[in-house]
Amino acid sequence: MTHDLLQAPALARLGAPFVVQVAATPLPDARLLAGNDALAASFGWPQGWQDTLLGVISGNAAPSWGEPLASRYGGHQFGVWAGQLGDGRALLIGEAGLGGARVELQLKGGGQTPFSRMGDGRAVLRSSVREYLGCEAMHALGIPTTRALSLVVSSEPVWREREERAAVLCRSADSFLRFGHFELLYHKGEHAALSTLVDYAIGQHFPACKAAPVPALAMFAEVARRSAELAALWQSVGFCHGVLNTDNMSLTGLTLDYGPFGFLDATRLDYVCNHSDSSGRYAYARQSDVVLWNLYCFASSLLPLATEDALREVLDAWPDLYQAAFLARMREKLGLLAGQDEDAVLVAELLSWMDRLGADFTLTFRLLGEYDPARDAAAHFAGAGFVPDAGVRAWLSRYAHRLVYEAQPADARRAAMRRANPRLVLRNHLAEQAIRAAEAGDASVLERLSRALSRPFDDDAEFDDLSALPPAWAASLQLSCSS
Ligand code: AMP
Ligand code: MG
Ligand code: MG
Repeated sequence: MTHDLLQAPALARLGAPFVVQVAATPLPDARLLAGNDALAASFGWPQGWQDTLLGVISGNAAPSWGEPLASRYGGHQFGVWAGQLGDGRALLIGEAGLGGARVELQLKGGGQTPFSRMGDGRAVLRSSVREYLGCEAMHALGIPTTRALSLVVSSEPVWREREERAAVLCRSADSFLRFGHFELLYHKGEHAALSTLVDYAIGQHFPACKAAPVPALAMFAEVARRSAELAALWQSVGFCHGVLNTDNMSLTGLTLDYGPFGFLDATRLDYVCNHSDSSGRYAYARQSDVVLWNLYCFASSLLPLATEDALREVLDAWPDLYQAAFLARMREKLGLLAGQDEDAVLVAELLSWMDRLGADFTLTFRLLGEYDPARDAAAHFAGAGFVPDAGVRAWLSRYAHRLVYEAQPADARRAAMRRANPRLVLRNHLAEQAIRAAEAGDASVLERLSRALSRPFDDDAEFDDLSALPPAWAASLQLSCSS
């Protein structure tokens, strides 16, 4: 019985103008391509949940509590206010329990809503496979993110640059609220509704802010803090979001909207993973600046509820907050427990030579943990796709010198570095292989990759092929916004 698994979402209580009920559009020949048993188990769901819920997670049956909900949000896209944007193809199908807390479950690609604009309400298999793998990879890396519960594929044709197949992803999050939900109400002058939504968000997701003198300000400060932590985590694994528009910024600090995202292969600080981002607005090295820009937009939308001076104070403090979070993550990656003033320079110079030599981001950090200054650096780093030059050797000897200040024994440091530096990330070419197989009806590549990505820090001989340098053909892969 589906009502045992899915309850009416708290958001339903808000009603119009925040949410509308929308029936999902039936999906022909729905077939479960992937199901996340570990996530289902964390909801306390029994085995066989896929059979119970197949109708609902494919959009062919309504949840027993009622029709799904689409919510209303807007956003700044590429720096420009774009008005109302969604939910154009996401439907909230209910909530599940998670250790006393509750999580929302949403279908992505479940059909048109009143907010679909010109869109068909669908998502294609290609982008749905990428999201399924991407968010679960991030979760296994310890990075806050929406999760993927299931991926259902269909025979329904969907037209993008070519004809593709429709798919429906079911994803979970503590909340799918975005900065854009608040921005839309502010820009439309619906200030009473804005206040209602802020109260709701605080009550559901930031209860500690209720007692603050200005709850909206306290919530904003907490959102800013989480965003700083999140951006630092992205940088620390070479993750490029690709479309950091304000409608893709999660209120609760999750990585949200896996569009044309990518992990760095060869380090390129100016790397732009989204082929449509011609100005490089969302380049890897610009992500923290853009998150701050997005926070400015969010702050503006809270002006009816907090003073400009107070909001500005939070924003002014943000760069230091981010730098501290970034440095903390990078110290972990370098095995540095005792903070030293010059660590920031050490990190900046490391990233600078990795960029200059095109060193593989993931493997360079992984190998750094095993580096023994008594050995030849060229041989040691050969697997990371670069040849150390004099600059690298000078840096390595400074790093070795820096380690002298660490009280931690080398063995313990190496073990900690293995836990901080993944061996495996979702490289583009790996996702591409899973997509090609899935499009040909074979889910085994996706299944194996999912399994490997769930243990990214393990030295698992079984997955040696997945953690190697990318093949030459990977360089020609291009990611567009189309999904
Ligand atoms: P994105 O650039 O992926 O963040 O998408 C921006 C907005 O466009 C989202 O809020 C979606 O609601 C909407 N959207 C994207 N693709 C579609 C589609 N195929 N049909 C309807 N709406 C869509
Ligand atoms: Mg989006
Ligand atoms: Mg998207």
